[in-house]
Amino acid sequence: MTAILGGGIGGLSAAFYALENPRLGALTLFEASERLGGWIRTKRSPSGATFEKGPRTVRPFGEGGKNTLRMVEELNLGDQLIKITQTHPTSKNRLIYADKKLHVLPSSFLDLFSTKSPMKRPLIMSLWQELRAPKVEKEDEDMYSFVKRRLGQDVADYMISPMVCGIAAGDAKKISVKFLMRSLFEAEQKHGGVLKGMLKSNKLQEAINKRKQEEQNDMLLGRTHKGSSRLALLAQKEKWAVWTLSDGMETLPGALVDHLADKVDIQLKKCTNLTFGDKEVDVEVDGKLHKFDKIISSLPAQNLAELVKKQHPELAQELEAIPSVTVAVINFEFKDKVVPIEAFGFLIPPNQNLPLLGVIFDSCVRSEKSTVLTAMMGGAWFDQYFGKNPTEEYLLSIAMEQLRNILNLKQDPVHVDVSILKDCIPQQIVGHDARMKRIRDYITAHGMSLAICGSSYQGIGVNDVILSSKNAIDDMLLRDINA
Ligand SMILES: Cc1cc2nc3c(=O)[nH]c(=O)nc-3n(C[C@H](O)[C@H](O)[C@H](O)COP(=O)(O)OP(=O)(O)OC[C@H]3O[C@@H](n4cnc5c(N)ncnc54)[C@H](O)[C@@H]3O)c2cc1C
Repeated sequence: MTAILGGGIGGLSAAFYALENPRLGALTLFEASERLGGWIRTKRSPSGATFEKGPRTVRPFGEGGKNTLRMVEELNLGDQLIKITQTHPTSKNRLIYADKKLHVLPSSFLDLFSTKSPMKRPLIMSLWQELRAPKVEKEDEDMYSFVKRRLGQDVADYMISPMVCGIAAGDAKKISVKFLMRSLFEAEQKHGGVLKGMLKSNKLQEAINKRKQEEQNDMLLGRTHKGSSRLALLAQKEKWAVWTLSDGMETLPGALVDHLADKVDIQLKKCTNLTFGDKEVDVEVDGKLHKFDKIISSLPAQNLAELVKKQHPELAQELEAIPSVTVAVINFEFKDKVVPIEAFGFLIPPNQNLPLLGVIFDSCVRSEKSTVLTAMMGGAWFDQYFGKNPTEEYLLSIAMEQLRNILNLKQDPVHVDVSILKDCIPQQIVGHDARMKRIRDYITAHGMSLAICGSSYQGIGVNDVILSSKNAIDDMLLRDINA
C-alpha cells in the first residue's frame, strides 16, 4: 500500500504514474485543503473571462515539456489545447518597464547589433565580453553575479533579474545559477565559458545517453518504451512556444482527478506526522495512525519538514532551509483595449524599486472579448513592500496606481479578483544542489521508504513538477528492485 501526500499537480501526477505499476499496491492520496489542484486554479469573472490564479502557460520543450504533452494526450485534452507559436506577438514581444518607460527586449538576431534601451550597449558586446571572461571555479553562485561576471551588468539588471522575477518571483541575487541554468554554469566549469561550452557541447550524445537511461529504466520496470507523443512531435513541427488550455489550466488537474476516480482513495484530510519503521510507515491523519509500505510526498519542503521533525530532525532542518515566497495575484478585466502593444506582458527589474513584479497581458495570449491583465506582486520583496498582513484592498489600490502610471490607463476595470498566495513559490537558492544531495543521501542512508516530488526540489514549473512525480515513482520502484 502506498500513500501519496498532497493533491496539487505533483501529488495527482504521482498517483497517475503510480497507477501504471501494480507493484505500488493500493493507493491513498491525502490532501489537506478542501480542493485538489494546489496552486493551479482557474476562476471566471462574472462576464465569463478567464482569471488564472496560478500558472497560465506551459512550455512544450525538453524532457519535462514532452512528458507533460504525453500526459495531456493520455488524458484526452488534446482538443482543448491553445497553441502559441514562436512567431506569435506574445512570443516575440517581451517587455520590461524601466526608467518610467516600457521597452521591448531584443528578440531577433539583428537586435544583437544595435543598442536597445534601457541597455547601454549592443548585446553582441556582452557576448564578446563572455568569450573573453576568465573561468572562475565555483561550487555554485547566484544568478545575478554569474551573469554580471560573464555578460555584464546590463544583462544582469535588465534581462536576467526580471526573468527571475517572472519565473520564480525571486531575487536573482539569491537564486542558484547551478539550479536555474545548470547548462550555462557547467559550460563555464567544464569548458571555461558559456559560449565555448555551447560550441563544444554534444547535445546529440546527451540525448542518446538520456534515451538509453530511460529505456533501461523502462526495461527494469517492465513497461514498454513510449517514445515521443503525437503532441510533442506536433509542437516541434509547428514550433509552439507555449500552450494553455481553452477552459483554463485547472482543466489539467481536473482531468487527472477524473482519471484517478474509482482507482485511488482520495481523502481530503491533512497528514500530521510520519513515523518510519523497518517495514511500514505510520501515517497520522485525524489523530489516527494508518500503516503504509511506501510514501510519495509531493508536499512543499516546509510542510514535509513538519511531518518528519519528531523522528528525523536533521532531515527536517534541511527541508526547512528551502524557503518560499508569497505572491499577490490580481486579475483585472477591462471593457476596452488598454495594452499599448500585443505582448506577453511586462516585467519590472528589481533595481526600479517598484512594488510590482510584472503584469501579464492574458487576453493577448487567449483571445477574450474584453482585456484581461494579471498583476503579480511581492515575491522575494513581499514583506519589504507590503508588511506581514496587508489587506486585499491595499494591494489592489497599489496595483491600480501602478497600472494607471505604466499603461496610462484612463478607464476603471469592470471586474477584479485579488488573491494572496502564501508561500506559493519555493526558492532554489545558492547551495540547493548540494542540499538536495544531502536530503537524498539521508533518505537512503536511513532506509526510509520515502520518495519526494513537487516544486520544492527539481524545478518550479508545471513540467518540472510532473516530471519530478514520474521520477519519484521510478525511484521508489527501482529502489525496491535493487534492494
Ligand atoms: C502565481 C503562480 C504562477 C505560476 N505560473 C506558472 C506558469 O505560468 N507556468 C508554469 O509552468 N508554472 C507556473 N507556476 C508553478 C506551478 O504552478 C507550481 O509549481 C505547481 O502548481 C506546484 O505544484 P505542487 O503539486 O508541487 O505543489 P502545490 O500546488 O503546492 O500542492 C501541494 C499540496 O499539498 C497539500 N498539503 C500541504 N501539506 C499537507 C499535509 N500535511 N497533508 C496533506 N496535504 C498537504 C497542499 O494543500 C497542496 O494542495 C506558477 C505558480 C504560481 C504560484
